Amino acid sequence: MIFSPLHAGNPGPMTGAGNWTYLLPGAVPTLVDAGVGTAGHLDAVAAACGGHLAQVLVTHGHGDHAGGAPALAARWPGARFAKMPWTERDAAHAVAWAPLADGMSVEAGDTRLEVIHTPGHSPDHLAFWHAGSRTLLAGDLLILGTTVFIPASSGGNLVDYLHSLKRILALGPRRVLPAHGPVIEDPETLLHAYLEHRHHREHQVLTALESAPRTIEQIVARIYPGLTREIIPMAMETVLAHLMKLLHDGLAARDGEQWFEVQ
Ligand SMILES: [Zn+2]
Repeated sequence: MIFSPLHAGNPGPMTGAGNWTYLLPGAVPTLVDAGVGTAGHLDAVAAACGGHLAQVLVTHGHGDHAGGAPALAARWPGARFAKMPWTERDAAHAVAWAPLADGMSVEAGDTRLEVIHTPGHSPDHLAFWHAGSRTLLAGDLLILGTTVFIPASSGGNLVDYLHSLKRILALGPRRVLPAHGPVIEDPETLLHAYLEHRHHREHQVLTALESAPRTIEQIVARIYPGLTREIIPMAMETVLAHLMKLLHDGLAARDGEQWFEVQ
């Protein structure tokens, strides 16, 4: 699979160094993820696709992945835009989205990509699999050197996320092209580390509930001591994601703001 990594030029507190998008040149010049529509990104896309962009495949509806769609559509009015529908979010990135679903096969560049639904970070999250090279275009499913944020109160779901990780592990990927950070050359090691990390966090959350009911704030204070004020809301979302999984598994329950262990 031939591709050019193109940086979206959007560094920031939520995106780190910013997003990678991937251009597959060929019969169907295809951009994977739309970036945010910076002039530099649009010019890089134009240079990499030889002036003609046929298609934009978007991994999920977060602004740093889908937000550039209207700017790309203005520059390439004939391009097709496709993602899995997420009704509440897609209107914010107003182009005529063609719906993608798990199991589809899409022509891209000079090859084909398989569409894999990988919810968890968001409900509409897709990864694109190139079987020939065992390469996964992974969006926000995996990031080298850190963990993926699961926004439990806005579409994130840890049960789904763990299932998605196991599904990708079963594919046996050789290389993962993420939307943030460097190319992942040993994805199986990272996938195992991710699963181990979540298992460890779950144990910490359960331990925090052992002696008494706790609020999310109390659990955060126990398992993430010394967090700065700006980071606390994200830690609370992460703890909520774990609590929702424990609720799903029948290991925790809630009474108002209080969470407690189910014996
Ligand atoms: Zn995202």
